[in-house]
Amino acid sequence: MALIDHKEHLSCTRCGQCRHFVGSWTRSCPSGTKYISEPYYSSGRAWLAEVLVEGRAEMDRKMAGSIYSCAMCRACTEMCPMEYQNHAMDVVEALREEAIEAGVVPPTVRDFLKNVHTSGNPWKEPQDARGDWAEGTGIRLYEAGDDFLYYVGCVGSYDERSQVNARTVGALLLRAGCSFGILGNQEVCDGNEVKHLGEMGLFEHLVKEQSRIFGERGVRKVVTLSPHAFHTMKNDYPAHGVDVEVMHYTHLLRDLIEAGKLDVSKGLEARVTFHDPCYLGRWNQEYDVPRQILSALPGIELVEMERNRETSFCCGGGGGNFATDLLAGREGPACLRVREAEETGATILAVACPICTKMLSDALKTEGLEETIRLADISEIVLEACP
Ligand code: SF4
Ligand code: SF4
Repeated sequence: MALIDHKEHLSCTRCGQCRHFVGSWTRSCPSGTKYISEPYYSSGRAWLAEVLVEGRAEMDRKMAGSIYSCAMCRACTEMCPMEYQNHAMDVVEALREEAIEAGVVPPTVRDFLKNVHTSGNPWKEPQDARGDWAEGTGIRLYEAGDDFLYYVGCVGSYDERSQVNARTVGALLLRAGCSFGILGNQEVCDGNEVKHLGEMGLFEHLVKEQSRIFGERGVRKVVTLSPHAFHTMKNDYPAHGVDVEVMHYTHLLRDLIEAGKLDVSKGLEARVTFHDPCYLGRWNQEYDVPRQILSALPGIELVEMERNRETSFCCGGGGGNFATDLLAGREGPACLRVREAEETGATILAVACPICTKMLSDALKTEGLEETIRLADISEIVLEACP
């Protein structure tokens, strides 16, 4: 067990900072907020690691339930004043590896991993339908010599609402005259959630496949739809010998607008609040670029939710929860987040991640707020601002 080697969990002092409230809203931890119980906070998971390492308990289904409810959002590591902030996410991953080894993972997690293993995506959708979202868009397959590969990922490829984001980003890249292509039915899952669910063998297999495909096609630069793919390709892949330049699409849109290659002069009149995706924000310290894009659009009034940037509240979809559903319900993070967005008086809730799109659009329906506040990916807002 990786925990035994490193004793990372011991640097949690149980100071309780990670359970604190942020502003007038609920606590910063999505799983702790939903379950209101110590094992569902970062401190509780450090304690579980301690009792397991010391042999005072064995991993069981109840423990695995609390371990898998973590959205890997890093809100706790922002709050944590101790050395543990640098280890908390590794401890959760190690605990999940242990749960897999013990055969006690929740059924939805088991199905997620099995489906990625057998079908290449969490929902067992056919691989030969992976590129269907691009039909009729004019977006073509990647060719050697293109400036970059547009990597869409599982959620953008198969989730109906997120496919809209995939097409809109593609439409903007075509409009700006970019030289790019997609992998279509040859695209492979990036593996970020697989790694965070603790299935390291499958993650390594996916990275190997990705490496083969990138190598065969001569891909050297990748633009991702999802911050999750951006994160793992940028930070995890190099250790596995895959070294490509990676950008999230928001970086590219910002650059295209600044270079005058995307004309956004039409603008749109709207009050907009932006929901920071954890894998762009807390995992990669990128808070400014999405706001720079929105601020560049004539007519937009940008208003912040009480919890924003470093203290943003996760939609609850990270760490595989968008499919494993361990944080669902009206007291789950997605519903709380759309109620927080509504409090700003914004007419648009802007997102920059297909997982946030999926989670928050479902939550708007649950809360009956669809008529009050519209969910839109930043790319959709940019496209509306183009003449
Ligand atoms: S995880 Fe960090 S903030 Fe939370 S109790 Fe442990 S040391 Fe304190
Ligand atoms: S990563 Fe997020 S969900 Fe997990 S313990 Fe930390 S704050 Fe809670």
